[in-house]
Amino acid sequence: MKHNIGIDVGGTKIEGIILFNDVIVYKKRIKTQANLGYNKVLSNISKMYFMLIEYIEASDHTLGIGTPGSLMKDTGALKNCNVSVMNNKKIKMDIESTLNREVVIENDANCFVLAEAIHSEQWKTTTIFGAVLGTGCGAGIVVNGKLIEGRNQLSGEWGHMSIHQNGLKCYCGRNGCAERYISGRGVEDIYESMTGKRISMEMIIEGYRQGKEYEKQVVEDFLDDVSFSLANIISIIDPHLIIVGGGLSSIDIVLQQLPERVSLMINRPQNMFNIQTALLGDSAGSIGAAIRGATTEIEE
Ligand SMILES: [Zn+2]
Repeated sequence: MKHNIGIDVGGTKIEGIILFNDVIVYKKRIKTQANLGYNKVLSNISKMYFMLIEYIEASDHTLGIGTPGSLMKDTGALKNCNVSVMNNKKIKMDIESTLNREVVIENDANCFVLAEAIHSEQWKTTTIFGAVLGTGCGAGIVVNGKLIEGRNQLSGEWGHMSIHQNGLKCYCGRNGCAERYISGRGVEDIYESMTGKRISMEMIIEGYRQGKEYEKQVVEDFLDDVSFSLANIISIIDPHLIIVGGGLSSIDIVLQQLPERVSLMINRPQNMFNIQTALLGDSAGSIGAAIRGATTEIEE
């Protein structure tokens, strides 16, 4: 039996996890330090990896690494990554030469849905859509126990699904991407553009609860945009289960209000859909990365 190592590279933190027989035996977090540049991120990934293998005394292990964005098959470069210093970098090659071994790289939202999906009893025979609503936003699709990757590794990249054709400019170069509207950073940007003040998503939600004018408007639009985005997904893949995770999913009004709002936006509201919150908290990304690494079976 091997240890399964998963490393989740996020905008602010890198989380490493070791699974043994599907049980977490060790977990560690360090800062990503993306503000110090790409090479610093690489050296922090390497630092994390060596801390983890030190813990298991370099015994047999698999390794999966989760990161925002998608690896382009033709060029090997990372695209649509909200940790912008990693964009257009050949991260698989670079990490492999840093760690001196092969690695499995997977989109972080795909890791999230994989980790969450296996807790659903029927995950091997159903369609599951997993959405992460956090600082940014992402999603992944598991069908009959398999992650759907797509021709260009873009499956589930709903953060860059345009929901307002002439909407806000996104860092990916297009307009109106969902990420600009249904992520924490996106909502804070919209609030700032309306009021000239920047406050946190938590404060915006607090203002909404107190009935403040701008906060109410911004949060109502946010809930509608999330619902609209989910309704589009339901129209296309009609998933048996929708799992919503990420920091914003723990705000009570989000899960309380989504079902009714979504049902008003799908073509046949009598259709059934099932929206649940994530079970694993913010370690789903690193757990999923470990599972992804384990199922791809690259020997160290
Ligand atoms: Zn975009």
